[in-house]
Parts: sequence; structure tokens; C-alpha cells
Amino acid sequence: MLMSRLARRGPLVMRLVLTPKILPDADSYNVIADWPGSDKAGEIVVVSGHLDSWDLATGAHDDAAGVASAMAVFETLKKLDYRPRRTIRMIAWMNEENGTRGARAYLDSVAANPASHVGAIESDSGAGRPFGLHASVPAASTPLFAPLQAALQPIGAGVFQRQDALATGDLSGLERAGVPSFAPLIDNSTYFNYHHTAADTLDKVDPDNLRRHVAVMTATAWFLANIEEPVGRAVVPASFSR
Ligand SMILES: [Zn+2]
Repeated sequence: MLMSRLARRGPLVMRLVLTPKILPDADSYNVIADWPGSDKAGEIVVVSGHLDSWDLATGAHDDAAGVASAMAVFETLKKLDYRPRRTIRMIAWMNEENGTRGARAYLDSVAANPASHVGAIESDSGAGRPFGLHASVPAASTPLFAPLQAALQPIGAGVFQRQDALATGDLSGLERAGVPSFAPLIDNSTYFNYHHTAADTLDKVDPDNLRRHVAVMTATAWFLANIEEPVGRAVVPASFSR
């Protein structure tokens, strides 16, 4: 806004001092927890967020909200005494922000058998109010999700938006390998006031919206972990590249 005001008075000259540098690689780790399924334990549903954040603040919206709601899937299902048929795998991805290196390492580790993954969920659009889900499932699978939509409708999160590919963040490699991807559909109208800034702290997170995130992540994970047949492999458009 300052720049546009000054530019109206005539040519604008700026001097920028940029200090970032690329340092040598160092070890870091994804954090992974499995809750083994019962009769379909060999099939995996990933629930996830990313562990790293920009160093200006604590990253409450980007992406502590995603990690917290993924972790809360286990807590919520255990409180309800529900036991999934498929294995639910919570992943806090390392290094999303600087190249999704954790997600790439994970993909390498499951390269022999990506088909064991029947679905993957990542929340990485802040902690605003969720309205439903984005999903990269085959068009023919969309009707299967009616019960999930009905379950989420009471909190206003019943929208189901199918796309051929979400093509974002940590799940894009799994998606390219045919794993259907899911992400909460979120009101992000204030997200970019906080995202990647010193203002991204917990006081900007609305507790009720965070509870709604937990509900969306938990209901989706439970649905994918228990549906009789997997929802079908993602259709990956030829034009899709990272
Ligand atoms: Zn993020």
C-alpha cells in the first residue's frame, strides 16, 4: 500500500537487503504414529499436517493446526472407543516449507507398495472454519461420500468438492502414485494475514474452529478406514507435475 501510494507521485526506487542463505543439508525427521487396524490392517489411511514452520513465529495456523487436528484423530476415536478396520497413520511431515523433503523421503520408503495407501488427508490451509472437503477421487466414487457429508453437515462442513488432483503440498507425490488425497475445505479469508508472518501465533486460532477441524479430520479418517471397499485410485491427469 505504501509502494502504490508513492508510485502515484512518480517513479519509485527501492533498495532491498535480502539476507536468506542456503545452508548445507542437516538431518531432520517425519514424526509417524500408527494405530493398527483390525481386519484390514495392511491398508493405510494417512492423516497429516506439517511439522516445520517459518521461523518468524510459532506457525499456529501454518501448520500447527494441521498437526494438532491430525493427532486429535487418534485421541477422539479412542475417547469414543472406536477401533478402525484399516491402519490409521498420523504423519507430521518435516520440511514442507522448503521443498517437501520429508514427504519425498516417505514416498521413497513406500515406493514398492503405494497401493497399500487407500487415502491420505492433509490439513494445511490454516485453522479457519472448515466447510467440507476437497478430494481427488474418481468421479464415479463421489456418491460413496454421501454418508460422510451427512455426518459433517450439522457443523456446516458437508461440502464435497471433487477434483482430478489437489496437487498441493506433502500429498502430491502419493497422489501421483494414485492415492486419493483429501484436504479440509477452509475459509481462508484471514489466513494470509497470519501465514508466514510474525503474527502466526496461537491467539489467532479460534478454538471452536479448531474443534471443527478435528471433527472433519476424524470423520474423514474413520470413513476411509472403515468403508467396505477402498474409494478407488486417484485419476492423475497427464498434465500434472509437481
Ligand atoms: Zn503449510
